[in-house]
Parts: sequence; C-alpha cells; structure tokens
Amino acid sequence: METVEKERILVIEDEAHIADGIRLNLSIQGFDVKIAQDGIAGLESWRAWNPDLIILDIMLPMIDGFSVLKTIRKEDEKIPVLILSARGDTKDKIKGLKYGVDDYLSKPFDLEEFLLRVDRLLKKKTWFHHDNKDKNLEYKIFKGNAYNFGNNHIDFITFKASCAAGEIVLTEQEIVLLKLFIGNKGKPLSRELLLTAGWGYSKDTTTRTVDNFIVRFRKYFEEKPKNPVYFISRRSVGYVFDHE
Ligand code: CA
Repeated sequence: METVEKERILVIEDEAHIADGIRLNLSIQGFDVKIAQDGIAGLESWRAWNPDLIILDIMLPMIDGFSVLKTIRKEDEKIPVLILSARGDTKDKIKGLKYGVDDYLSKPFDLEEFLLRVDRLLKKKTWFHHDNKDKNLEYKIFKGNAYNFGNNHIDFITFKASCAAGEIVLTEQEIVLLKLFIGNKGKPLSRELLLTAGWGYSKDTTTRTVDNFIVRFRKYFEEKPKNPVYFISRRSVGYVFDHE
C-alpha cells in the first residue's frame, strides 16, 4: 500500500449512547468515524464522505435502515454494510441479506465480536480490491436468488438447498463461499482467496480450514463425494467449481 490513510466508517444510528460508544471504540482502533442520526443524513454522508464501511441501524427516523440499504445498493454493490439492530428475528435478517447486507449483528452485541466483524468486512473489501487491481483478475460474486447444478438446487434467499445429501439449510459462510464459487465457475480459486472470503484473514485460520469446508460441500452436493465432479482440487492452486 502506497499511503496509510485511515479507513472511514459511517455509523447510521439514532441512539446517541450507542453511536458514541461505537465511535469511541472504532476511533481507538484507528478508524475515522462519522455518525449520522437518521436515514436521510446517513444517505447524505454516504454520498459526500465516501466511507469504506457502513454500520446501519434498522429502526431510524426519516427513512428506515432497509430503505437506506436499498438506495445504497442501487448505486454501490460493493461497499460493505453491517446491520446493527435491536430486532434479532430471522425475518429481518433474511430481508437484510436479500437487500444486500454483508453482515448482521443484534443489539446488545459483544464489543469484541463487533470489532472482529468490522475488521473482517474491511479486509474482505481490501482483498478483493487489491486483487482486481494488482493481478488484473476479476472475481465475481454470484448475485442471483437461486442456482442449479446437476441435481442440486440452492435457494440463496432462504439458504435452503436440495442436494445429493437431501434437504439442508446452509450457513451464511457456506452461502458466501458458494456465491464465490458459482460466480467464478470454471476458474480455479486459491485457498487464500477462499479463506479471506469466508473467514477474513486471521492467524487462527489456516488453508486447512478451506480443505475441510470443501469436504463438507462434496458431502452435500456430490453424488460420489470421494470422486467429486463439481468441487475439484487443483494441485498447488486451490479449487475449481464447474459443471455442464
Ligand atoms: Ca434505532
């Protein structure tokens, strides 16, 4: 990196004590933080300030968080958005994911977990950004609502899959990795890329983690997990997802 510039985090949150707490903690971590107290101010700051990450509350004055998110996603598909909400129910979570939220945390939240998630979202962003720029490679994330390959069907809205292993519900992490594999069908992906996409890079995870995940995908989606045809190993490179 040529210059060390503080990363910008926009916090759209109307509860002052929560907003202040977040600002304090993120500032300690070295981030540049701006608070917007309602949906309209949030959208204005997003346009004017060009943040690297947005922390978004759902229940907001003027325009609610979902509408803010929808507006942002129309113009920017990439900026990471972490929803922070008092509502913890699955419906809201699914709605948020449908509108293109990257992560979701219910209040009250654990500070350490919050900071880890912020870090992970920012690293993921940087990773993809650098990869596109430096290696001139483009990784795509599958954006559709559903996908079929072989006898497998994945529903990205409900996270349900009907597959060789039967009817299953996928985890968020599995969904992220599947979107990456599908978006780059036929193109080998390195363990490092998969690791960063699924876990954010951290010292606690190793590329072995990726291998274990692939074992799981094969159990789900392959007719013969020991003789995979969809999730194929590429020696010394990583994995490639492919099908007819
Ligand atoms: Ca609120």
